[in-house]
Amino acid sequence: MTTTAPTAAPAQGTEEIQDAGHFDVLIVGAGVSGIGAAYHLRDQFPDRTFVILDAQDNRGGTWWTHRYPGVRSDSDLFTYGYRFKPWRGPSIAAGEEILAYLGEVIDEYGLDQYIRYQHRVTSASWSTEDRRWTIEVTRGDTGQRLRFTTGFLWMCQGYYNHAKPYRPEWEGMDRFQGLVVHPQRWPEDLDLVGKRVVVIGSGATAATLIPAIAADAEHVTMLQRSPTYFFAPPTKHELAVMLGPLDLPDEWMHEIMRRQYVSQQQTLARMSFEAPDELHAFLIESMRPLLPEGFDIEKHFTPRYRPWQQRIAVVPDGDLFAALREGKASVVTDTIETFTEHGIKVSSGEEIPADVVVTATGFNLSVFGDVAFTVDGEPVDFTEHLTWRGVMISGLPNMAYTFGYFRHSWTLRVDLVSDLVVRLLATMRDKGAMMVVPALRPQDQDMQLRPWCDPENFNSGYVMRSQHIMFKQGDREPWTHMLEHDEEREILPKADLDDGTLVYR
Ligand SMILES: Cc1cc2nc3c(=O)[nH]c(=O)nc-3n(C[C@H](O)[C@H](O)[C@H](O)COP(=O)(O)OP(=O)(O)OC[C@H]3O[C@@H](n4cnc5c(N)ncnc54)[C@H](O)[C@@H]3O)c2cc1C
Repeated sequence: MTTTAPTAAPAQGTEEIQDAGHFDVLIVGAGVSGIGAAYHLRDQFPDRTFVILDAQDNRGGTWWTHRYPGVRSDSDLFTYGYRFKPWRGPSIAAGEEILAYLGEVIDEYGLDQYIRYQHRVTSASWSTEDRRWTIEVTRGDTGQRLRFTTGFLWMCQGYYNHAKPYRPEWEGMDRFQGLVVHPQRWPEDLDLVGKRVVVIGSGATAATLIPAIAADAEHVTMLQRSPTYFFAPPTKHELAVMLGPLDLPDEWMHEIMRRQYVSQQQTLARMSFEAPDELHAFLIESMRPLLPEGFDIEKHFTPRYRPWQQRIAVVPDGDLFAALREGKASVVTDTIETFTEHGIKVSSGEEIPADVVVTATGFNLSVFGDVAFTVDGEPVDFTEHLTWRGVMISGLPNMAYTFGYFRHSWTLRVDLVSDLVVRLLATMRDKGAMMVVPALRPQDQDMQLRPWCDPENFNSGYVMRSQHIMFKQGDREPWTHMLEHDEEREILPKADLDDGTLVYR
């Protein structure tokens, strides 16, 4: 019998870096944003060469990383799906269904040939002299180091570190005899049958996980420091039910439902600014009939912040509340004092028994995929730079990024940003420019700088924890971002690419 020795990955940095070729455009990330960017690029510039690099071993980004039981979208898939690819299922979809949808986009538009998995981008260096980026990559499978060059870098890396989830350290964790897991790294073979589970956190992840594991587990406790807003829409929208018998073409159905959901999301977002007390009352009162008799809604489900100042967690058909009614799940609102051998002790003195603790505590935000950027040899400190419309960064030539909405479906912005980037590439072509860079005009020099995210507007933990590493925004267009979708869908398509804030050379 012949055996082949496994090829050991060489230690990073010890191997010669190999030339991997030049591409007109290089996209980082094969999630919803990167796949959308590739579709639009190929559609508008079929003659341009491009490549998509992703550190993971499969497509989907978020939906590949998060494979815990019950993982699903919060958004409806008519707006979370792309404008160009009809969604055919119920409004809310499981992670697997979203992965399948993205797989169909890749197949239908022949994008597979452009994607290189297990390619982690480590650095990006711009040379004005050469008018190009040099991108260094380490392969996850072989450890091989590669060097690409590109004329235009399109960052679609998402907002958090996929490899390192956020998990605070609590006292006594080392003596806990059960298992601690993070939803971002769910063990495939985890069997919860008959187990007592404590889920720390009450955001979207906790809310989707709990009903999915409640049937198997002996009991699930949601342990939260403070309450979250929940909204319990039906999985299938009543308009979709009404339109069903008309047997409309998929494209029509997609467009009608998109408009319906955009308008609904917009109403909720507007209301959160203009009538927060009414929205607060609406959300609380819509939960009340779904909760068990005598449930302390004031303590467990009445947040202290304005609705939409943090994400509203969607629980389709109220499945989280059903688990509470059935006694399979319960809620504790308190702070953790310490882990014990057999559970968690909270400040009230109560000890919650646990065989498994799930830390649904969120993300570590990462700036541009933790890529080390330099421009003409100078390291880029993003905190000294400004966003240009939430699409480019001041002082960084030939680089665009796709970042979605917090309050609306992420993908609505993927299509809008992609339109803008292809328009920018067309403008460069028409001007014969090899380089475009956002730069402050004289009248912008004394502009008041604002944080990346205004806490009054949105203040989720992962955003606030990372303000100090993020780039800034200004007090006027085009140096602002995070507008609402109803504003941006008017502004971005008409954005003047020749207003003096973009310098072409
Ligand atoms: C559980 C969960 C549910 C969510 N539900 C919703 C929802 O319902 N609606 C909504 O609007 N949003 C939701 N979000 C937010 C979600 O992240 C976005 O909707 C969207 O998936 C982001 O897509 P993306 O492609 O921009 O980034 P990601 O999905 O984060 O993908 C980025 C990809 O880039 C790769 N990458 C990053 N850095 C590098 C690097 N240096 N080199 C190479 N590759 C790199 C990563 O490996 C990853 O595959 C949810 C998030 C989570 C975690």
